[in-house]
Amino acid sequence: MQTETPRLEIRNLKRSFEGRAVVDDVSLKIMPGQVTCLLGPSGCGKSTTLRMIAGVEMQDSGSIHVDGKLICDTIFRIPPERREIGLMFQDFALFPHLSVADNVAYGLRGTRAEKRERVKELLERVDLLRFIDGYPHQLSGGEQQRVALARALAPKPRIMLMDEPFSGLDNRLRDGIRDETLSILKEQDTAVLLVTHEPDEAMRMADEIALMRDGQIVQQGAPYNVYTRPIDRAAVSFFSDAN
Ligand code: ADP
Ligand code: MG
Repeated sequence: MQTETPRLEIRNLKRSFEGRAVVDDVSLKIMPGQVTCLLGPSGCGKSTTLRMIAGVEMQDSGSIHVDGKLICDTIFRIPPERREIGLMFQDFALFPHLSVADNVAYGLRGTRAEKRERVKELLERVDLLRFIDGYPHQLSGGEQQRVALARALAPKPRIMLMDEPFSGLDNRLRDGIRDETLSILKEQDTAVLLVTHEPDEAMRMADEIALMRDGQIVQQGAPYNVYTRPIDRAAVSFFSDAN
């Protein structure tokens, strides 16, 4: 029998700051087309985990693998720009001197016409086609964030790391953009690690939730199971306090 190789696998990642373990032996596997949510309260080590996978933070120990190939351990390290991992952070700025179209086309290869076609498709899906020839300063914060989302999705990355990417959007738009983002990622068969401190967001978007606390994953499973069978009292109150 052939077993499927995870698109992204992290093994025993650890990182300390000033003698305190902030990420303490975290392991995860994400298959192509799967969305895993790293869910937990502020300060539990979610962003640090993501930053190590992106390659902008170095782990003290542990390893990262893409499609079964080692991309980083404590000896060998592929630099961030060669990891071909898509990134989307809440405060991911657009290039102010580039048009909306050029921002979205930034990571694309191909002919001008091909790139323009892809840019149009993405802007249409985040409902911003009318701004295609505009500039970032002409857009609201939420609109800029949607352009940043389109830019991150455009090159069809095999892996997408998202750190609270929807938290700057107003409620009215958030659900629609979340759903659209999810369907684009699924179509592209991208493996997604989505960081959030909001149980609602994890319940809505995740195939699997990894509940994180004090640097460790304390529970992992399908959203329904994690929500209905919380591992301990702290997990119960995390889910109920957030609502
Ligand atoms: P989360 O994303 O879950 O809110 P972070 O990964 O950002 O958590 O941070 C986890 C802990 O590590 C926090 O206490 C934070 O202050 C600390 N931390 C993160 N980065 C650094 C750093 N570069 N130097 C010192 N402490 C850090
Ligand atoms: Mg964070």
